[in-house]
Amino acid sequence: MFDNKNRNHEESKPVRTQFPVFTAWTVRAGTRLVMLTLFIACSSINIFPVSQDQSLGAQFDKEIRADKKEYRILNNPKARDYVQDIVDRILKSPEVKYRSTFPYKVELLDDDKTVNAFATPGGYIYVYTGLIKMLDNEASLAGVLGHEIAHAELRHSTSRMTKSLGLQTVTELALGKSPNKNVALAANAFTGLGLLKNSRDDEDEADEFSFKYLQSTPWYPGAIQYFFEKVKGRGGSGLEELFSTHPLPESRLENTRQRLREANIPPPTEVQLNSRAYREFKRSL
Ligand SMILES: [Zn+2]
Repeated sequence: MFDNKNRNHEESKPVRTQFPVFTAWTVRAGTRLVMLTLFIACSSINIFPVSQDQSLGAQFDKEIRADKKEYRILNNPKARDYVQDIVDRILKSPEVKYRSTFPYKVELLDDDKTVNAFATPGGYIYVYTGLIKMLDNEASLAGVLGHEIAHAELRHSTSRMTKSLGLQTVTELALGKSPNKNVALAANAFTGLGLLKNSRDDEDEADEFSFKYLQSTPWYPGAIQYFFEKVKGRGGSGLEELFSTHPLPESRLENTRQRLREANIPPPTEVQLNSRAYREFKRSL
């Protein structure tokens, strides 16, 4: 449709004299604007540069490390290396784009009562001991870590920031106009935990990518389902923080099972779950 418009415009130059306001530039800009508007309305456009994710992440990481009351970082390098090694193996997936751009550094948070893990924008990953202790095998932890990596990779935080700016501001920015005060307002509204409040769509997309990442690893790619089952069985205690950052509708469990069926993946073997090594790891905490 847009091509035709441009072609007509160029083929019928005399028409331009009848509509002098419609110069070639305005047609191009108008087309760009319409396309952008459509694009923004129906996709997850992100107006922020990747460097914004990096700087938000670095800032957040600094705040977490400074807030020793809220975030007790576990001093157990061996345990941290165990989790870091899982992350590093997931990052080898061909689906991962920012493995050299984001640090993807893991820290464990010493709190057995909290079942959660989160990744800041730009890939600083935090895992609570409460989550590690609740799980039964390494593959489940890999599934959760893949999910966190996906939030950073898919740049969910800055995408949500973009959405919150509203269509007009985003369109203006995309057309090269200078940032207005709404951008600063949006950036200010998304600080601290606000950055981590993922939507249901973000959650499902992160599960989908975790599944893809794990397919190039030795772990059973659907093992995040055991995490969902554990959470369900737990009935809410210690999960307040989890639910505030990761909504958990029933559909996530069903969608994971559906992915397994579609990819024709048989039930896991012990090698794919690695529960023996995981039990040892848990004892070391
Ligand atoms: Zn999530």
